[in-house]
Amino acid sequence: MKETTVSAATKELLKKYNLKAAKKFGQNFLTDEGVLKAIIESAGVSKEDCVLEIGPGLGALTTGLSQKAGKVLAVEIDRQLIPVLKVVLFGYDNVQVINDDILKLDLRAVLAEHFGSVPAKVVANLPYYITTPIIMKLLEEKLHLKSITVMVQKEVGDRLCAPPGGKDYGALTVAVQYYCEPHKVLIVPSEVFIPQPEVDSMVVRLDIREKPAVQVQDEALFFKVVKASFAQRRKTLLNALSAGNFGRSKESIKALLEACDIEENRRGETLSLEEFAMISDKMDSSR
Ligand code: SAM
Repeated sequence: MKETTVSAATKELLKKYNLKAAKKFGQNFLTDEGVLKAIIESAGVSKEDCVLEIGPGLGALTTGLSQKAGKVLAVEIDRQLIPVLKVVLFGYDNVQVINDDILKLDLRAVLAEHFGSVPAKVVANLPYYITTPIIMKLLEEKLHLKSITVMVQKEVGDRLCAPPGGKDYGALTVAVQYYCEPHKVLIVPSEVFIPQPEVDSMVVRLDIREKPAVQVQDEALFFKVVKASFAQRRKTLLNALSAGNFGRSKESIKALLEACDIEENRRGETLSLEEFAMISDKMDSSR
């Protein structure tokens, strides 16, 4: 593959600062200008936008974001990269870098402090070892967000965007689609990263819904039903829910599914969000 300006710059920075990409932090630096541009464009970043970047790394995406956005806040866990980012981002005055673990940060407070009442756009090439916890934190904390545009492993991208009925559709799919409308943006080959990850990647954009995709009486119960339905994928819905600690007999689950007009021998992976909502609301109202 042809050496790009970004890949040459990445190698030079690593050499100059005597750094090695840290595996434990999931460091795979993106070196393709076209892909960097496509991420920023698909997030629709403009001067009105406040952007939260997770894991700026050596700043390849951060500089591009800075040129398009009003403000950029970048959270990087690796303190070795902070002095490098200071140099790379010199003169990019709308960027602030925080050296912290995104999973431990009080993001609600941090976003309010830096962005006030403007909803943030999250844009990131995510560290793959914690993709799901990061996405779930962004969604479950019900932060003031507009969209989440992220590079993830292709297989995870497929799961985030899956329709019901296939192997990719699972508890993560339902949780993400409850809060967001997902869009596949781009498949990215592993060759454009330093070092190369073992699998291909995908850029996805999750547009945060104004209201969840389905209205439920009890959100916690809804997610408990979803989790139980996927806990053992080969089980029928009747058996999976009966084993789900709902304090109900098999007979009562059978009656409940019948009342929802949902066949008891279906598998969780065939249920739409509306059907999960129906089951959880029926459970809630007959408690
Ligand atoms: N944005 C850079 C790029 O596209 O080249 C780097 C992306 S790299 C896949 C992931 C980045 O996330 C690394 O810089 C890594 O140090 C950082 N990171 C890993 N775990 C983190 C965490 N818990 N909180 C914040 N940053 C983290």
